[in-house]
Amino acid sequence: MQQQGAIIWLTGLSGAGKTTIAQGLAKELLKRNYLIEVLDGDIVRTHLSQGLGFSKQDRDINVRRIGFVANLLSRNGIIAIVAAISPYCQVREELKQTTTNFIEVYVQASLAVCESRDVKGLYAKARTGQIANFTGISDPYEEPINPEIICQTEQSTIEQCVSQVLQFLEAQGLIIPHSAAYSFVNKNT
Ligand code: ADP
Repeated sequence: MQQQGAIIWLTGLSGAGKTTIAQGLAKELLKRNYLIEVLDGDIVRTHLSQGLGFSKQDRDINVRRIGFVANLLSRNGIIAIVAAISPYCQVREELKQTTTNFIEVYVQASLAVCESRDVKGLYAKARTGQIANFTGISDPYEEPINPEIICQTEQSTIEQCVSQVLQFLEAQGLIIPHSAAYSFVNKNT
């Protein structure tokens, strides 16, 4: 049976846990033999969106480009995992309306916690004005209104967050439940 494509769209503040969850999901789905691709905001900006800045207009263009590529992958049966701040509601909603199997995952952690994690040292630079238009500090982040999943990374472990998404995919019939996949393999060996 050919796998179904989907777009798992992880949105949230810098340092909330998007990349970490995306990598965890990728690892687990690859282990289960699904075709996947990860589109990470930081990497996309050095290739597909090179030259774009952080104005609302440029951020929206960036998100639409990622959405376009994710949709190409998804409609060819690949599970596209997107990790991008994608701070504006409207453009995320637009993608939800115009694509199939779009799963919005709100990777939630308070600004204080994200700032204390400061994984890339960017918050410190934003606070001292070395970086302008920094989401959460000097630029808005609009929380998802009706996300399919909320991963609360202050309360849950990385493994719990990854499981939450996998369980949703299983419940939607987009991937085979792990136990079923396991018994299927067993029956045929
Ligand atoms: P983002 O991609 O959102 O900027 P990262 O994934 O780069 O964030 O960094 C998130 C940080 O938070 C990592 O150091 C990660 O280990 C930590 N973390 C703690 N708990 C979680 C969790 N439940 N899910 C994801 N990351 C977590």
